[in-house]
Amino acid sequence: MEELPLGALRVRGWSAGCDLCWKGAKSVLFITGECPLYASCFYCTIAEWRRGKDLVIVNERIASSPSDVLDEVRLSSSLGVGITGGEPLSVPERISSYVRLLKDSLGKRFHVHVYTNSLGADEKSLSVLYDAGVDEIRFHTWDERYWERIRLAVSMGFSVGAEMPSIPMGPWIVKLKRLSSFLDRIGAEFLNLNELEFVPSNRERLLSMGMRPRADDEVGVEGSSEAAREVLEYLERETGIMGYFCPALQKEYQVRMRWVRRAMNVAREYETPTDEGTLIYGEVMGPEDLLISLMRKYGGSLKDGALLMRAESFERALRELRRLNLTGRLIEVMPTEDRRVLQIYPLDFVLRSRKSKVK
Ligand code: SF4
Repeated sequence: MEELPLGALRVRGWSAGCDLCWKGAKSVLFITGECPLYASCFYCTIAEWRRGKDLVIVNERIASSPSDVLDEVRLSSSLGVGITGGEPLSVPERISSYVRLLKDSLGKRFHVHVYTNSLGADEKSLSVLYDAGVDEIRFHTWDERYWERIRLAVSMGFSVGAEMPSIPMGPWIVKLKRLSSFLDRIGAEFLNLNELEFVPSNRERLLSMGMRPRADDEVGVEGSSEAAREVLEYLERETGIMGYFCPALQKEYQVRMRWVRRAMNVAREYETPTDEGTLIYGEVMGPEDLLISLMRKYGGSLKDGALLMRAESFERALRELRRLNLTGRLIEVMPTEDRRVLQIYPLDFVLRSRKSKVK
């Protein structure tokens, strides 16, 4: 078993979809919020506002048309997409139209994997996906009555595996071992385990079941990574399939990696991409004539009565801004359509931190 950064574990490699995810080269397409299992999957991490809603969201953006999805995938320089929900297979025709658009525009090698809880997976829906060019199917199902549907997907020629939360309790660990053996017997390729996570929508339920957050990150559930290790050791010993454990921290890191790619593509002339995948810029407020003369000297753009300038220019202009008695700040935003603000550093704070760096 290989130990990877941030506590990830891997046995015999991983699927093409995981490879893209690891590189931050995958977009996430939430194709519908409808799923019949919200009452039974106590660990579900889907936010309340998405549950039961027939929404399409690509990465952090609500899509009102397939072209929004294509645009977002291009801006993120993604080489593949993971189609999730809700239960994606409740809308197979919708998946088909998006996949056809993506493959026609970005090439047949653009990789697509689809998650399903198996309820909507039958010969008809899987054929729709296969004909559209879906490459990989990831099943999420505890109910052994539905495991035959995994076999069906294998027989149709998809790359197939299962993706399950690693629940740190005896019966669930036993079930995951049984699933590994089943996947191996039917010719499936992999089992992915995700660290069980606390999110606002499952917090109370997990706590009431006696689960606790890990002391060192507050998101992952205590014992989940140890449970995954036990299952992967079994998988390595008893089967020939691939196994992978994805810790909560790794998911955050992958989002940052995707942001890094997007930030490079979408930075406006006054925004500087950071190593964290965010964008940062300076904003200066004051009389228009002063702002125009600063713009001539340092560059930038006037917007809504403020001068927006690159962070490096803002730092160079600090003393002058103070001398002219102007107000200003550095603003760090997500590289998303809505440029959600992450941090604001007022002028005085930037001046103080620069002085302490100089000392
Ligand atoms: S199948 Fe997936 S989306 Fe549906 S309730 Fe379970 S975990 Fe949530």
